Amino acid sequence: MTSETGVPRYMMTSPIYVTPSNPTGLIARRARDALIQSIRCLGVQCPAGHLGVECRWWELDELPRCYKYHLIDCFLHYRFQSGIELHIPRFLASLSLPPDEGPHPALIDAMCLVACALSRKPYLRKHEPYILSQARAHLDQSLAEADRLFDFIRASALLSRYYALRGRFQEGFITISACAKLTIACGLHKIASRVWSDPRARAVPGSSLLKPPRDPVELAERILGFWAVFVIERMYTIHDRIPSAFVDDEIETVFPLPLSYFEMEPEMVVGFPEYSLRDIFEPDSGAMCIPNEWPYTRVLKGMALSQRVANLRALADVVDFTGSKEFWRNFWAIDRIMQDYIEVIGVLPSMTVAASGGKPSPSAREINLAFIYVQLHAAVIHLHEPFIAENDTSHRRCMGSLEVVVQIACMIEDVDPRYTYSLYICMRTAYDFLIREMDRRREKGDPVIPQLEVTRQRLSATMVRLAPFRIIE
Ligand SMILES: [Zn+2]
Repeated sequence: MTSETGVPRYMMTSPIYVTPSNPTGLIARRARDALIQSIRCLGVQCPAGHLGVECRWWELDELPRCYKYHLIDCFLHYRFQSGIELHIPRFLASLSLPPDEGPHPALIDAMCLVACALSRKPYLRKHEPYILSQARAHLDQSLAEADRLFDFIRASALLSRYYALRGRFQEGFITISACAKLTIACGLHKIASRVWSDPRARAVPGSSLLKPPRDPVELAERILGFWAVFVIERMYTIHDRIPSAFVDDEIETVFPLPLSYFEMEPEMVVGFPEYSLRDIFEPDSGAMCIPNEWPYTRVLKGMALSQRVANLRALADVVDFTGSKEFWRNFWAIDRIMQDYIEVIGVLPSMTVAASGGKPSPSAREINLAFIYVQLHAAVIHLHEPFIAENDTSHRRCMGSLEVVVQIACMIEDVDPRYTYSLYICMRTAYDFLIREMDRRREKGDPVIPQLEVTRQRLSATMVRLAPFRIIE
């Protein structure tokens, strides 16, 4: 985001700014905070910091010390897109701590890599191999010495994201799988309360790898860190229809709240509904009908539903399921939950504008919700496609979901792809369905093929723009 004066800014939440019209306390802060902080405390030399002129650090043969701080500022700007949230004032202050007390170098390296990938500056690419080799070495060191393992977890999650941004999906999956297992070993999936003073929030059952969080902000970072790893891992497992390292029924960690809420009085946090993953499959729990829910929590719920669908679909693809009552019971149960959930989320005004051929200008909230929509509708297609030949309802569901995905594609046509690239994987599901649907109709000599071809081209154009490994072009 850039302010009206052209100064780059990043968003953060702060309890000071919480009002009824800004319930999460979201504000824009001037970027370059990391650089200014490091110049003040560590004496890092940089012409941008001292003289206010542009620092062209990427042109030097040997990277100057200041490069990290330029990239950290860029990372903070795009951190929501990387999936990791942290307490920014505390993080900035930690940069001037002694080397063994501040953030682990692996975390800084991983932030720098994500910043390079999301900066859209092709000339930064030549520095990525060096930063990547540093990141790997620092990760190995962190693990070997069991040093700052929570930083290791966040750094691994960021590295996996970086690999995905560069189209290196296999390395990305290997990285996040190992990270997910360590997350479980550290007990981060068992944080059963958002209230720091509650023993359920501070005890880490069966693990001494991480010390208990020292205050409510650390607790918030742990909860958000757990869900970040969950989201990144599920992106891979849902798409490839493979089992996730996280077993839904074993996850006790509560759904998160914006970080700013954890800085308020504990009574404030207690007042919010406290659900976890298990509750979303219980029709009477109330977990799926929370009005105006934080979009990030909606994404997490969508991930759980999508994984359930991916598991059913994997079953449908390999075994004779038609005689299994249990399969159909699970099938229609998940279908019901998803249909109800889509209704709770409601229609986005910009989607209506796009559907009627207008030029929408979606808000930040609508862009966040766009992901949830595409995610849920991709899951509907995943679930129903094997049955469209014999079941009209399944065919209707698939075509209806395809239509919504196309509406979203039109809605985000002019949005910076750095804010929407994660929609790519779910759009791909709809696109692949469309290709197969066109083949089926061609065989039958269906006359609507030219119409579907227009849809295909439209979806394809959006996906080319979003494709993660094209992001810097
Ligand atoms: Zn510099």
